[in-house]
Amino acid sequence: MTLFEKIIAREIPADIVYEDDRALAFKDISPQAPTHILVIPKKPIPRVGEAAEEDEALLGHLLLTAGKVATDLGINSQDEGFRLVINNGSQGGEAVPHLHIHLLSGRQMNWPPG
Ligand code: AMP
Repeated sequence: MTLFEKIIAREIPADIVYEDDRALAFKDISPQAPTHILVIPKKPIPRVGEAAEEDEALLGHLLLTAGKVATDLGINSQDEGFRLVINNGSQGGEAVPHLHIHLLSGRQMNWPPG
C-alpha cells in the first residue's frame, strides 16, 4: 500500500481540504509555495503514464477538482493564478507512486521549471 493509499484509508493523517467519491485533496507536507495541495484519485493509478483509456473521465475529474479547490481557496483568478504539476517517473521528479497533481500558488512561478 502506498503512502497516499494510507492517507485515503485514514491510516496516516493528512490535512484534507476536499473529498468526493473519486478524489481527495490534501496539503503537501513539505510545501513548495504558500499554497501547495495534492489532488489524487482514490483509484491507485501509479502515474499518469500508466493511466488507461478507461481512466479518461477520472483524469478530467482530477483537473476539474484542482480548479474547484483553487476556487474554494480563493486563488482561481487570472491575477493570482496557480500552477498544476504532475511528476512522472524518476527523472520527472516523482517520489510517490500514486498519481497526484500538485496545485501550487501564492508566489510567482518561473519558467522553465527546475
Ligand atoms: P512527487 O515528488 O511528485 O512524487 O510528490 C510527492 C509529494 O508528496 C511531495 O511534494 C511530498 O512533500 C508529498 N508528501 C510526502 N509525504 C506526505 C504526507 N505524509 N502528507 C502530505 N504530503 C506528503
